[in-house]
Amino acid sequence: MPHPAERADTHELVRGRTTHGDFELTVCTDGHYFLDGGAMFGVVPKPMWSKRAPADEENRILLGLNTVIVRTGKHTIAIETGIGNKLPPKLASIFGAKMLLPQSLAAAGVKPEEVDIVINTHLHFDHSGWNTRLDDAGKVVPTFPNARYFAHRGEVEHGHHQYERDAISYISANYDPLIKSGQMTLLDIQYGEQELAPGISVEPFPGHTHQLMAVHIDSAGKRASYISDLMPTSAHLDITWVMGYDLDPMRCIEERKRLYSRAIPEKWLLLFTHDHHHPMGYVEIGDKGKPTLRPPS
Ligand SMILES: [Zn+2]
Repeated sequence: MPHPAERADTHELVRGRTTHGDFELTVCTDGHYFLDGGAMFGVVPKPMWSKRAPADEENRILLGLNTVIVRTGKHTIAIETGIGNKLPPKLASIFGAKMLLPQSLAAAGVKPEEVDIVINTHLHFDHSGWNTRLDDAGKVVPTFPNARYFAHRGEVEHGHHQYERDAISYISANYDPLIKSGQMTLLDIQYGEQELAPGISVEPFPGHTHQLMAVHIDSAGKRASYISDLMPTSAHLDITWVMGYDLDPMRCIEERKRLYSRAIPEKWLLLFTHDHHHPMGYVEIGDKGKPTLRPPS
């Protein structure tokens, strides 16, 4: 039985492409996957969220794993790396992991060797899975051999601590080998923006995790922002529709307000991490005062 949210284009390997000033943005995918709808919408009642995100008979909603490739002319940047191919088989089958990122990059004409910067907004396994891969001999190797990887030091420390609440979300093979080899740079930024390359910067928007970072992409006076799990899909635009997974939902709401105070008047193009069918768009306030999504034209 196909999931009720499946459509004719659900299996397309390139989810979106647009020019952004002098840059090109391409949304690749590790494939769609499924998570419990209740967990994705926290305290929001099902009759409300299921209108925006239909659930199957197991209460699962269809989500995406969006990797955004930014070509600036000087750099090729990968933001986020999906679930990957190192998940234990049982977990991979629960999530319906498709492990498609290599095929998706190939379909978009992106060679792993040409990616020179990889940015992880946080280190949950569904955001950093293809940082490394298992090679044919079963050895963990970097997927992007020529890239400098960036992640937040606090995320690594949180992952190593293995808290009861979220230990399952952190798989050290996604970052420890890269830290050991010197290929990953750990960031200490607490607030404000830090530039990683011309036009590419990160900014903390905590709540989902304590150090979650958005990635800002600036070119020719325009800003796009990969806001990650601050607002995982376009069904989460209401500021109070935060996730059961969020470590600090109150902080998420405050950070969403802070985001909107700039993103709406300045017309930022928002890039969604888990929205398979609407990977990007502009947030506008509709007639009833509710935030709505306007897709890029
Ligand atoms: Zn996520």
